Formats: sequence, structure tokens, C-alpha cells
Amino acid sequence: MSENPDNNSKTSFQLNPWGDDLVADEDYIRLCEEFGINMVQELEIPYSAFEKNRFLRRKIIYGHRDLGMILKAIREEKPWAILSGIKPSGQFHLGTLTTASEMVEFQKMGGKIYYAVADLESYADNGTPLDIAYKYAVDNIADILTLGLDPKSYVYLQSREQIPQDMVFMAGRHVTNNMMKAIYGDRDFALYMAALVQVGDILLPQLMDGPMPTLVPVGIDQDPHLRLVRDLTRHFKYIKKNRKTKKEISSPLFKPAATYHKLLPGLDDVTKKMSKSRPNSYFNLGDDPIEIEKKLKRAFTGGRGNKEEQKKLGGVPEKCMIYKLLQIHFQPDDNKLQDRYLRCKDGMLCGTCKKESIQIIMDFINEHNEKKQEMVPLAKEILSRDPKTFSF
Ligand code: SF4
Repeated sequence: MSENPDNNSKTSFQLNPWGDDLVADEDYIRLCEEFGINMVQELEIPYSAFEKNRFLRRKIIYGHRDLGMILKAIREEKPWAILSGIKPSGQFHLGTLTTASEMVEFQKMGGKIYYAVADLESYADNGTPLDIAYKYAVDNIADILTLGLDPKSYVYLQSREQIPQDMVFMAGRHVTNNMMKAIYGDRDFALYMAALVQVGDILLPQLMDGPMPTLVPVGIDQDPHLRLVRDLTRHFKYIKKNRKTKKEISSPLFKPAATYHKLLPGLDDVTKKMSKSRPNSYFNLGDDPIEIEKKLKRAFTGGRGNKEEQKKLGGVPEKCMIYKLLQIHFQPDDNKLQDRYLRCKDGMLCGTCKKESIQIIMDFINEHNEKKQEMVPLAKEILSRDPKTFSF
């Protein structure tokens, strides 16, 4: 994130969806106010609405745009979509795990998943050749299937799907260079194009299957894409031909809704985002378990300066990377998570806590990787399915 250098812009922050910046805790509220993101806690709905979704239940998702529209569709038992995606440029890491798990949690609330494998964006951003991206895609889809993705979900490669590709031209008619610069800053032209491809991804569920509320669960750094697509939605319509009369009926689309989670800091330094340039800041699920354990042992905690202080004052789980990992990913049991929180506050020593927690995390990862092997053939089959969309 950086200060917006464009003096004419109404905003003072510029979020970079392709960057490594971490948003400081104190900036989240300011960002929400500045970009018109609403707080989930202000939605006046019963707790039971969030019961099935651990990211909402545990308040990991804190911001939203039009989440009320999705909750209304659930209440009225109407169809709604979840759109998410992955850039296939490497193995699953803790960041990609967050968005993928969120999507699966929303699936439990009744949404149909549309999942973009963003191989074109991977080429634009990382220079990953499409054949290499395909190999990562198989690996990534096997991970998500292991997490619980419904195999009937619509999973597609950007490079094979017509709507996202056509959208570069269709949406391109409605944007100016200044507009892209104000939203994204000065970027390579290929990244502006990748952003327009993403407009196609986000609108694909409605352009393909008809207007319906669509939810995009993201980290706050991806908000520029949401602002762009919400602004452009009014230019597109779902067109259906009446079989008898042959007349075309066009219907407007819903502005896509979004939820926002905070960005996960590095394991080694909570003031910086996880980044490939700092190997101790993150791990991939497929890494050597011994190496993962080493990184976890070195992870930043919310422990006090010494044993006496810890026993007297208790730890600070809110600042602890070990606690965050359990809360977001690796401790599915709410009661056990709450118990650890209370024991930490009560003065449990970090050494004891880390030992127990690392065991929980490693058990999860080992079990995940074992199950994942069985999912590889299904992942290949899903990626070989014919694309469904053509020009629109
Ligand atoms: S006791 Fe556990 S949760 Fe608390 S700060 Fe230490 S490692 Fe983190």
C-alpha cells in the first residue's frame, strides 16, 4: 500500500493487488472509510447466519460490500454465486490457503463456486509460461478439493475461457488510462489487461448463468479489482434468447459483493507481509515438514519479555503468529481455540504452547498432503473439462 501520488484522486491510499505490502492494523479502519467498505459487525443479523462459516464466526472477515444481498438470497433460498481464483505460479501457501478456505466455508452457506485459474494473470505478473502454470493448476486444484471444494463447481483456466478474454476489449471501451492509474497506480500495461480479464472472471457467473448475487471473498489488497468491476457492471447485461419467439431478453447484472479479511503478516516479522523474498516469513503446504517445523519454532509470538512477566500478565494472542495460524487455518474446534486463548491470557508459557500448537499444525498438514494425492486425478479431470462460455 502506498500514498496516492495523484493529487487529483479523491483517495490518499493506493492498494497494490500484485504487491507485498502489509496494511498496518491502524490503517484498516481508515481504508474502509476511504473506500466505502462496511464493517461486518454493523450488519444486524443473528449469529446463526454465520454459524457455518468459521471466517465470519471468528471475525476473521471484518469488512464487506453488499454482504446483506448474499444473506438475503440465503434467507429467500435463491441462487447465489461465489467467485474466487488462484494465480497458478507456485504451490499452495498460507495466503492462498486463506482465500481457498474462505470460499469453501461460503460454499457451506449454499453458494455455487466459480473458480478462475488465473494463468493469464500469472503470465502477466510473474512471466509463468502457460504449460508450467497448468502443472501448478493441477496441484492447486488438488489442494482445494482436499479442503472440500464441490467437484461440480465451475473451475476454468482463463486462457481457455472466452468471457474473461473478450472482457479486455468490452470493458476496455469503458475505462481510461487515468481511471486505471487512479485505481492501480502506474503498472505494466499487461497488469492493466489482467485487471480487465478479472472483470470478466467476476462477472462470468452472471453472464454465463444469469443475474444472481455474486460474492468475491478477498484480502483487502484486492479491493481495487472490486472497485473497478462494481463500477463497470452497469455496462453489461445477461442476454437470453427466447426459444419460441427468437427474441433476445436482456437483464441487468447485480453489482458483485465482497468480503475482506486482514492480510496475514510474515511468520518472522509481523510488521511485514509474507513474501518469497523472506523464506522464513511463510511456508508452502507441500514443503519438507522438517523445514516447516523449523519455521514454526522461530515464528513470532505474543509472549512477554520473560517467564515472570508472562505468568503475571499473560500473553497477547492477538499479536501471536502461532495463535493466528490456529485461528485462521489449523484449529477447527472453536472450544479448543477458546481454551488456548484463555490459557495464553492466563500466563501459559510460549514454549509449552508452541510445542502443542506445532503438533496440531503438522498433523493438519500431513493429513492434508496425504489426502491430496488421491485428489490429483480428479483435479486433472476437472481441468480437462470443456469451457462453457463463448463470446458474449
Ligand atoms: S502462549 Fe501461545 S498463543 Fe500465547 S503468545 Fe505464547 S505462543 Fe502465542
